[in-house]
Amino acid sequence: MELSSQQLALKERAAALSNGTIRGRAADIDTSREYPWDVVEVLKAERFMGMTIPPEYGGQGRSFLDTVLVIEEIARSCTVSARIVVEANMGAISTVMAYGTDAQKKRAADLVLGGDKPAICITEPDAGSDASGMTTRADRRGNRYVLNGRKHWITGAGVSRLHLIFARVFDESGEELGVGGFLAVRGEAEGLRVGKRETTMGLCGMPEGELVFEDLEITPDMVLLPPSGFKRGFADLINAYNSQRVGAGTVAMGIAAGALEHAVAWAKTREQFGRPIGEFQGLHWMLADMQTQLTASRLMLHAAAASRGPGGSAFPDPTLAAQAKIFASEAAIKIVNDALQVFGARGYSREFPLERMARDVRMFTIGGGTAQVLRTLVASKVLGWKLPQTRDGYVSSRGGTEK
Ligand code: FAD
Repeated sequence: MELSSQQLALKERAAALSNGTIRGRAADIDTSREYPWDVVEVLKAERFMGMTIPPEYGGQGRSFLDTVLVIEEIARSCTVSARIVVEANMGAISTVMAYGTDAQKKRAADLVLGGDKPAICITEPDAGSDASGMTTRADRRGNRYVLNGRKHWITGAGVSRLHLIFARVFDESGEELGVGGFLAVRGEAEGLRVGKRETTMGLCGMPEGELVFEDLEITPDMVLLPPSGFKRGFADLINAYNSQRVGAGTVAMGIAAGALEHAVAWAKTREQFGRPIGEFQGLHWMLADMQTQLTASRLMLHAAAASRGPGGSAFPDPTLAAQAKIFASEAAIKIVNDALQVFGARGYSREFPLERMARDVRMFTIGGGTAQVLRTLVASKVLGWKLPQTRDGYVSSRGGTEK
């Protein structure tokens, strides 16, 4: 896909930031496990926070493809910083921009442009891949909703201010209406408690944690209602969230691009048997495969970022987004692992960035829809069948009735 001169300039600006300030902070963010508020300030100054927000709300109305260009550059140096760029432009914020009222959009935009990375709250201890099995409930009381439940593995728990919370909605009689999105701002909403932080393998400066809702009251102005209401709420909200998958796949691809860059430089300078190791054919083929997988990932991600879902919706096509995330996340794990191999023992050392990259990249086949679950989505499209994963759902669907 040919990039415009503005896109190339944007990419260059992101690369300069990445190679400078951000590269210098990456190792420390990893070892300290502290959220990099200083990097947020730099991203804000460069206007990489809230790029996709429409100009009428203070943003630049940039495309997802523009955002992906920036994410790749930042991820070459620091995964945590790149994830901040994803969540300040895609995912929850684009869901609010798609379905929110004017007031909701303005509120969300002010927060993000002010440096907030919104949190999306879907996963629960007993509802992971089967997200629709969530038990967090929103009970209607007059014109308000009262939320009770528990989410875990929420990116940004304890640092994010804006939260988009998915919950099952019930009316006063106890009848279930579907799934809704509810907005809450940490520090203002009583009943939103941050629980335990996970100790993770990688992505260490980004808190992943538990959120507990205890009679969290949501006023009508904070209910994010998709166009077809609560009944199809889950599908609509997840569709809008789709851009996040493209963003996450791009972070993985960016880590791989950074790792390959390190591997190439090392192969040219490290000498064994009296010659640079880059002269050995064993490494040529590894480097060629790494580059090939990287190029394929980038093309798929760019195509997904530039696509539009059914009916020309504002979101990337879900099937292209799923394919791109599956391919890029799996390829990135392999590329980074091979780059580590090129470094020999030094690749295994904390003195060099490869081991951090290997820990960071491992996540991307898990979060935001696992590679297996996304394959089910793609297979469903290929076959033209619904593929419900519950035992009873699958049987009835193959028998011709939908569930
Ligand atoms: P499980 O659903 O228990 O799956 C376990 C294994 O079984 C996986 O390999 C899975 O692929 C496989 N599996 C399950 N069902 C099927 C099936 N039908 N067919 C084939 N294989 C299947 N969630 C949020 O809501 N917000 C966040 O901000 C967020 N951030 C995250 C950040 C990180 C670093 C991580 C690791 C996770 C994050 N998540 C977040 C949670 C993430 O979305 C879930 O981990 C993911 O959906 C999988 O759920 P699970 O971990 O419970 O795995």
